[in-house]
Amino acid sequence: MSQNVPITVAHGDGIGPEIMAATLLILGEAGARVEIETIEIGEKVFLRGHGSGIEPGAWESLRRTKVFLKAPITTPQGGGYKSLNVTTRKMLGLYANVRPCASYHPFVDTKHPGMDLVIVRENEEDLYAGIEYRQTDDVYQSLKIISRPGTEKIVRYAFEYATRHNRRKVTCFTKDNILKMTDGLFHKVFDEIGAQYPAIEKEHWIVDIGAAKLADTPEAFDVIVLPNMYGDILSDVAAQIAGSVGLAGSANIGDQCAMFEAIHGSAPRRAGQNVANPSGLLLGAVMMLVHIGQPDVAERVHNAWLRAIEDGVHTSDIYVAGVSRDKVSTTEFARAVADRLGLVPERLKAVSYRAAPRETIASVAASRHRAKKALVGVDVFVHWRGGSPDQLGEQVESLSGGDLRLSMISNRGVLVYPGGFPETFCVDQWRCRFLPRTEGGTITHGQIIALLQRIGNAGLDSIKTENLYTFDGELGYSLDQGE
Ligand code: NAD
Repeated sequence: MSQNVPITVAHGDGIGPEIMAATLLILGEAGARVEIETIEIGEKVFLRGHGSGIEPGAWESLRRTKVFLKAPITTPQGGGYKSLNVTTRKMLGLYANVRPCASYHPFVDTKHPGMDLVIVRENEEDLYAGIEYRQTDDVYQSLKIISRPGTEKIVRYAFEYATRHNRRKVTCFTKDNILKMTDGLFHKVFDEIGAQYPAIEKEHWIVDIGAAKLADTPEAFDVIVLPNMYGDILSDVAAQIAGSVGLAGSANIGDQCAMFEAIHGSAPRRAGQNVANPSGLLLGAVMMLVHIGQPDVAERVHNAWLRAIEDGVHTSDIYVAGVSRDKVSTTEFARAVADRLGLVPERLKAVSYRAAPRETIASVAASRHRAKKALVGVDVFVHWRGGSPDQLGEQVESLSGGDLRLSMISNRGVLVYPGGFPETFCVDQWRCRFLPRTEGGTITHGQIIALLQRIGNAGLDSIKTENLYTFDGELGYSLDQGE
């Protein structure tokens, strides 16, 4: 018998303690070889003045055990409280959010009987880097950050997951017809890494039509890998159309640590009534058992759970008269699952985890290519509400100096000078693009500083600059509509 594996457990808020008790009862009776360290997170910790909902001692436990089974928490209303989930993901480097969404037809009501897919969402980058600014009276900005190593990790994880779990296809969703550089990189890396997995079918969808297809025909998908924001939105859609948000669990995986949870929140209105469905957290715990190398226990628990669902033992959120047999409480449901340990479902497909090889850590390409980088221009954003684009154009032209030339001004990404349309609506943030006077030349940081000085001396408010580079001769910046 292998040694017990230390895990950190948080009972959370609202229905959290009830569904965690149910989950731990089943894990205990299934023979999970774990040693539990309990930490407190969530509402009480927030209200004690810890803005991130977790105390320093709790981090110590998490960094020691590296495995976190977490019940949902309540984030108190009002400002100043950070999302504990986002903090935990970033601090522990949990780059992959894995969310299986399956329907359990005909035992749980669903419009999509054949649905069985897994969403693999990038968890650390994209707009969730949370880097935001207010720049002018009119304009706020959020930075969308997509990195090559971050993308390589998540895409490789998705293909490795598909291989381990005998999935036949991996689909990538991006918006690279518009976001050619950020989402374009995601798509490119998907193609590069996908080519290393010849046995797996690959496809790419533009996220808007892909989302429509997902909502309409989810059975057409198998594993879907996607950037953070699309993944956040579409994983909720997928869970909901599978049957109920109460049924899905999720794993947050990093190179060193991992966190497992239900996808739903703390459902405060259902708290303390012994009615909540513990299935989401239990299925999160099943993923944890596979992760810590106990696929035998994971399989026993998952199959017993499938059998209980199939036997019509349902909590009130999924109870349908005529389909379900018994409407049960949280504790009765836990008992029903525990009593079925050792059984497998008769009509639903039984799961098998034993054959699956252990999780491998997604590696980033060892030799990262260093491109030849050249500074070929600068965009200076100015806050200005003086008049027409032509007036600004004339003023800024005169500030270019002998070595630089104003190549264009754009407003919200649309060229407005020279030769803009009077119909184009403008806000008070203008992007002025300066290039060297010599075609194909480069510029220096010193020239940029001198330019900013001239702009400032002329009474214009430069709110930010963005350097324009080429990488091995390839443009490292987008051109404007109309440029
Ligand atoms: P919620 O997921 O708690 O509830 C949404 C709906 O689903 C409610 O009608 C609820 O009763 C039902 N529901 C959810 N889980 C259920 C279960 N296990 N059994 C039966 N019914 C269930 O979402 P919400 O109401 O928007 O948020 C409540 C609190 O949870 C908020 O404070 C929010 O910040 C927090 N939250 C936490 C997490 C997390 O810790 N991972 C995630 C989402 C929301």
